[in-house]
Amino acid sequence: MSIIAFIGVGNMGGGMAVNLVRGGHDVRAFDLSDDAVARAVHHGCTAATSARAAALGADAIVTMLPAGAHVAAAYHDALFAAASPHAVLIDCSTIDVATARSVGEAAAEKGLKMVDAPVSGGTAAADAGTLTFMVGGPEAAFALAQPVLANMGKAVIHAGGAGMGQAAKICNNMILGATMVATAEAFVLAEKLGLDAQTFFDISSKASGQSWSMTSYCPVPGPVPTSPANRDYEGGFASALMLKDLKLALGAAITAGASVPMGSQAKALYQMFANNGGGALDFSAIVKFLRG
Ligand code: NAD
Repeated sequence: MSIIAFIGVGNMGGGMAVNLVRGGHDVRAFDLSDDAVARAVHHGCTAATSARAAALGADAIVTMLPAGAHVAAAYHDALFAAASPHAVLIDCSTIDVATARSVGEAAAEKGLKMVDAPVSGGTAAADAGTLTFMVGGPEAAFALAQPVLANMGKAVIHAGGAGMGQAAKICNNMILGATMVATAEAFVLAEKLGLDAQTFFDISSKASGQSWSMTSYCPVPGPVPTSPANRDYEGGFASALMLKDLKLALGAAITAGASVPMGSQAKALYQMFANNGGGALDFSAIVKFLRG
């Protein structure tokens, strides 16, 4: 059994912390929200009074926070100073590549082992322990992080040095955003041409138009019974989070000098959809916006 500090036990972190408890670990939870901590305690975590208190003497420190500024502040203001030399530091938040790199490099300068380990999979996968982790950081840090992450996921993949977990995540989600827009507009065109949605799905899902957006999150109700389209686009992966990831991808593309016209167009569409009140709906609901 290890002592694990878990900072940020919200929608995702709450389920992830419980899976560490199920893995036999002593999990100390800290969050700015008392309600979030109370839920974690209800599921077997111990409440910590601060990030520092959670981290002191811990074997692993996991953070699951909203954005880069929260992550940088948590590590620079509390966690670097509190971390034991033997501890592994694991940031699972989705943040910008530049911050992930700089926080990872600052950890290395202090002699600490750290990885960025963003996830693929939403709250259902966090609860079920079936997340996919994309991990950036030195080999030695990955080796320490891997067994901790294995309690919370079905796949743990080393993507390269500091920041490369975030790079893999935003590149993957840029494909996802663009393919969802393309899939949704094809279903709308099919509708307008009088082509039955199920028939179009049966053909395209077995032809070259096939993608995860079509076969797992089909944007119209019917063809894929588990897709959010069948429950009024509730649950799933919120359009606001897709927009967040597309903004991160575009920011990284500007820094790297990469041309991402499809990603840029997908970001513009999700921004308009969010501005029109669609942010809380699953990202496949962009079909409603395209339908007009
Ligand atoms: P959330 O808002 O539910 O949880 C974040 C938690 O962090 C909140 O409980 C908040 O109180 C806490 N927090 C903020 N600053 C803090 C601080 N300084 N110290 C301690 N706690 C602090 O968000 P979420 O949906 O759990 O997402 C967390 C991260 O996971 C984000 O980076 C998000 O992009 C990423 N993500 C989310 C999903 C999803 O489906 N929700 C999927 C993949 C990745």
